[in-house]
Amino acid sequence: MPDNQPVLGIIGGGQLGSMLCMSAKKINIDTVILSDDEEAPAQNFCNKFIHCEYSNFDKIKEFLSIVDVVTFEFENIPIKVLNYISKEKTVLPEPGINQIIQNRKTEKEFINKLDIKTTPWCYVKSKEDIQKNKNLLPGILKTCTLGYDGKGQYVLNNLQDVKNDWFLSQEYILEKLVNLQKEISVIITRFRSGEVSIFEPIENIHKNQILRNSIIPSNISSKIKKQALDNAKTIAEKLNYIGTMCVEYFVDNKENLIVNEIAPRVHNSGHLTINAFEVSQFENHIRAVCNLSIKKNNKICDAEMINIIGPEIKKYRKKSFKKNEFFYDYLKKEIKESRKMGHLTITSD
Ligand code: ADP
Ligand code: MG
Repeated sequence: MPDNQPVLGIIGGGQLGSMLCMSAKKINIDTVILSDDEEAPAQNFCNKFIHCEYSNFDKIKEFLSIVDVVTFEFENIPIKVLNYISKEKTVLPEPGINQIIQNRKTEKEFINKLDIKTTPWCYVKSKEDIQKNKNLLPGILKTCTLGYDGKGQYVLNNLQDVKNDWFLSQEYILEKLVNLQKEISVIITRFRSGEVSIFEPIENIHKNQILRNSIIPSNISSKIKKQALDNAKTIAEKLNYIGTMCVEYFVDNKENLIVNEIAPRVHNSGHLTINAFEVSQFENHIRAVCNLSIKKNNKICDAEMINIIGPEIKKYRKKSFKKNEFFYDYLKKEIKESRKMGHLTITSD
């Protein structure tokens, strides 16, 4: 183990975990991955891999005995587990932040309290709640917890789309369908000193609610750009956030900037920061949670990232690439239809 460098524990072993491990290696930080997936791809990149259910506290104890600080690559870790871990070791970002953001209702309430605009929304427990808020139709009904890549979302065009058996076990929010001009994201890293390192807004193109392309520079006005950066700084500060997070925004057809959601972690739209900046979102995250110094971050070039979904990976695995094309294969064993399997970043030089 390198001297005086903390050992970083990471909960979750998917592609974000893998990329965190690769960045950690670059700056001599050892990593331990804890994952409930036996085939977690990050085991190819970490120093040590522990596989167990997140309810296996014996294994979690083993994990805690060999790490100094703990972070995570996905936000849906049971809060009980995060609280348990934080009694033993520093967890960053703090579990309380996760608790707010894990739930779309408390997340939106938090943002609205800061006077930052979100999509118009309401909390839904029953069919009547939708009837009472039919001004939000057409809209999208989203489960309060556990959704990703559009999972747990239902488009409601009118009241007839509401099925009777929907609300037996779940809580939802109903969001008005926004007339999207475009989607952007801002990735920010906040350090323990309160200093921040922030990337320029990234323009994102989704298909079927899954991110397909991320591009810098984004084609937005200077007013929207300033507002997007300012809001991200406010949110990070008010959360007392430490580490890298992402704010996903919509720009509507009337040039309003609206927060869609916050990701309390490194983010898919920031993969291009690996090749386009001197310090990536991943290295920034590690520097912040391990209490290393903040590094001045210069942009190297413009870039576009293409997500490789499902069987598309097969052709990429056979392809050869130009020197400005950077292919990342997440080494996932099983190819599934809408699963993110890898990405390609193309830089401007
Ligand atoms: P996830 O947690 O799955 O990323 P999001 O709420 O970010 O869920 O939704 C995924 C995508 O679906 C968004 O990036 C956007 O393209 C589309 N979408 C979600 N909510 C709305 C909305 N209220 N109006 C228009 N498009 C939306
Ligand atoms: Mg999203």
